[in-house]
Amino acid sequence: MTASQNVLVAGAGLIGLCTAYSLARAGHRVTLVEKDEVGSGAARGNAGEITRIQATPMPEPEQLTEIFKGVTTRRHYLNIAPVAMPLLSAFGAGFIYNTMPSKVRENTRNLDQLVRGAFAAFDSYHEDGISLDGGGYGFLNSHTSVDALQKFRDNQVARADVFGIERPGQIMLDGDLHDFEPVLDEHVRAGYVANTERYIDPRLFVDELHEKLLELDVEILEHTELVGLNNNTARMRGVEGEITRGFDKAIVATGAWTTPSIDGLSGTRSAFVTSGTGYSYHVKPDRLPGYLLASIDRKTIGVPMSGELRVVGLMDFSSEIQEFSSQRVQHLASQASAFIKGIGDKPRFDEWTGPRPMTPNGLPIISPMKQHPNVIVATGHNMHGLSLGPVTAEVVVSMVEGRPGVVSGAEVDMKPFAL
Ligand SMILES: Cc1cc2nc3c(=O)[nH]c(=O)nc-3n(C[C@H](O)[C@H](O)[C@H](O)COP(=O)(O)OP(=O)(O)OC[C@H]3O[C@@H](n4cnc5c(N)ncnc54)[C@H](O)[C@@H]3O)c2cc1C
Repeated sequence: MTASQNVLVAGAGLIGLCTAYSLARAGHRVTLVEKDEVGSGAARGNAGEITRIQATPMPEPEQLTEIFKGVTTRRHYLNIAPVAMPLLSAFGAGFIYNTMPSKVRENTRNLDQLVRGAFAAFDSYHEDGISLDGGGYGFLNSHTSVDALQKFRDNQVARADVFGIERPGQIMLDGDLHDFEPVLDEHVRAGYVANTERYIDPRLFVDELHEKLLELDVEILEHTELVGLNNNTARMRGVEGEITRGFDKAIVATGAWTTPSIDGLSGTRSAFVTSGTGYSYHVKPDRLPGYLLASIDRKTIGVPMSGELRVVGLMDFSSEIQEFSSQRVQHLASQASAFIKGIGDKPRFDEWTGPRPMTPNGLPIISPMKQHPNVIVATGHNMHGLSLGPVTAEVVVSMVEGRPGVVSGAEVDMKPFAL
């Protein structure tokens, strides 16, 4: 047991909630501050995937053609607004540099240090009574091109071997595939199931973590925004005006809002993260798929979640951290109904948008600040903040307690995640 410390956690999204929980169960006195409500940002409306074999950094050579399409049309999963280009130039240059095959291998190796502990970290939450309900096991990855899906599966087989887990199933074609999963559209030619991967309803996860924090007497201040901090003190703006709080350690888990606009963060990097906005909505089809359905070519996912189908996709870069476009939801719906039957004529509800905190190399930042060593930044989890939430929290607890982070029995080299 190390001595209990006063820890301030800013941001009650996926990383902040997991971190607050892991700190509180380790015996620390935690205050959690959130500018909106618990589970804002990208916490509730995401695809709910908890995955090892699909948790890889986004920059890879294929993205170069995607970027071209993203700049030239709004009818693509990736969209880059012309007005945002000047703001994105540093991020874009870093991203393109990280698409080099040698960088992809290095970044993947580094991220895997965390990915290999993702499931065990969720298991430890489950042992504490967090249900991880609302979803199931198995991703049915599908494609209109047999050759393209073969290549995608080969990569996943290699990743399954890295983690020593069961390899994805064999590819099913045409009639066999449609007999296996009747809701797939006839244009989809090939598919296989990765049985080891799982998905949950992130709304339940957020609500259950919230309950646990209340049971552990964590102080939760909603509608309270972190506006600045130094090595020992945080300044916050709440409903009743400005508050100042001292702390032993502070964790900045403000997701896509982790920018130099928080006074005290500037001077480390010109921008920590860039927002990559995604969308989801719900429909009630007559028949739900038996697995999470992913269209690899359309970059769109249909998740059977708590008795409904959640459709998820898109990656937009604009000048706003979070903005909603009904035109883009319409595009997502057209992509989904092109590969899942029986949803195009159903009413959409719970339309949602959330900002992924993207970094140029696809790795999160989990690091004390050089000028304020008591402040630990934990952000930039890109497309994997649910998968990596509990394991990130374990590493943050070890930093707070001055111990090296150990994941799956191996000490984590934190340099790739440093500021
Ligand atoms: C469409 C979509 C699908 C996704 N699917 C998956 C998936 O299947 N699996 C997966 O692992 N990941 C997925 N993700 C990514 C995942 O949602 C993010 O990586 C994750 O939410 C990042 O967690 P975070 O805590 O850093 O940010 P967030 O969850 O966005 O939380 C940040 C919180 O900080 C608060 N905040 C901001 N500024 C301040 C401030 N100054 N003071 C106080 N509070 C502040 C915000 O209001 C927010 O509540 C998806 C994302 C999107 C958009």
